[in-house]
Amino acid sequence: MISNSREISLKRAETLKSRIEDYTEARKTIPTGLKHETVIKARKAHIMKRLNATGEDWDNYKWQLKHRVDNVDTLKDIIHLEEDEIEAIQKISKLYRWSISPYYLSLIDPSDMFDPIKLLSVPNKLELADKDAPLDPMNEEFTNPAGTITRRYPDRLIINVINECAMYCRHCQRRRNIGHEDEMAPRKEIEASIQYIKDTPEIRDVLVTGGDPLTLSDKQLDWILSELHAIEHVEMIRIGSRTLVTMPQRITDSLVNILKKYPPIYINTHFNHPMEITQEAKQAAEKLANAGIPLGNQAVLLNGINNDKFVMRVLNHEMLKIRVRPYYIFHAKTVQGTHHLKTSLDDGLEILEYLRGYTSGMAIPTYIVNAPGKKKKTPMLPQYLISRGQGFFTIRTWEGEILQHENHDTIPIKEQYDNLK
Ligand SMILES: *Cc1c(COP(=O)(O)O)cnc(C)c1O
Repeated sequence: MISNSREISLKRAETLKSRIEDYTEARKTIPTGLKHETVIKARKAHIMKRLNATGEDWDNYKWQLKHRVDNVDTLKDIIHLEEDEIEAIQKISKLYRWSISPYYLSLIDPSDMFDPIKLLSVPNKLELADKDAPLDPMNEEFTNPAGTITRRYPDRLIINVINECAMYCRHCQRRRNIGHEDEMAPRKEIEASIQYIKDTPEIRDVLVTGGDPLTLSDKQLDWILSELHAIEHVEMIRIGSRTLVTMPQRITDSLVNILKKYPPIYINTHFNHPMEITQEAKQAAEKLANAGIPLGNQAVLLNGINNDKFVMRVLNHEMLKIRVRPYYIFHAKTVQGTHHLKTSLDDGLEILEYLRGYTSGMAIPTYIVNAPGKKKKTPMLPQYLISRGQGFFTIRTWEGEILQHENHDTIPIKEQYDNLK
């Protein structure tokens, strides 16, 4: 008997292995920042030379911010650009802001015209072909009860503190706020936001975002966080920042010491591609995690970048290795100049289909679509509930079996007790 059950188990193990053989093969060809450490270092040396930087400069986030590349003359010395790309970038510069930290530039394969990191950061000719879409698809203008707040939910809200970023994502949904200059929200606007939160006792969760709030100085951040932390009904603070990805040098010991003072603080970041998970990003994430700050990720599903079931699986695994928990995958919104990066909903559903069961539940984020009209976050899932019957549900498993699951009314404990008598 025992040897028989062992045989069955071994056979099942063979089947399970065959379920991920395609992934095991595909994974070998998907670049990750940790796997490509040597080539990133060589690119870094090249960029440092072009910008006359020392190693100390490179590791200093203030140097990274100040030396963001925002002109095509410098850019073309760092990555290869075709004539028509150069022309397009010059035109786009007048429409939408772009600027890329030297660190993030070192992640681009300079010879690949359609490199994913390049698509994420370097203006693309296709942006010019999309002029009709709205700039504010979320109608955030109508969800702003005070200061720089966006409130769309009962118990939580967003406070926008600055419009600056270490890199301006080509798929940015708030590009209308970015403008052409870095601006911290005026202090009295932030004060008005804080006052609104003080006056609104149902708000228990405050998201500090922008722009990127971690482009604020330590002192400015300390002030905002201390104000929020002091509000009794605010139970938690979330910071939305892409600096872990685009400028990990920002995660300094002194920043971590400030964040530590105001628990619980959660940081949600925005990794989109496994190439972004580098040694530097890993160190930054570990510093935060060691300080007791849980890290989550909000990816955006993007054409030519991560709309692939295997790339997304590698991304989620690479994030868990550096203690970042996948939280959301957003379906890209319709924002002017970003249409080329939008995917079908089918792409998102296929990715989800090949996560559940195939990998750790920890590696599975929720896929979110912002429903048209009211623009509320709405989860999208492959169909697991096939139908409801009298006393049972018909369900589908991750391996595609159709099964019936018994279903009965819930009987309150006390009623069950009384029925025993
Ligand atoms: C996304 C969002 C939140 C946070 O939503 P969660 O699902 O709790 O992460 C809060 N306020 C606004 C306006 C948002 O867009």
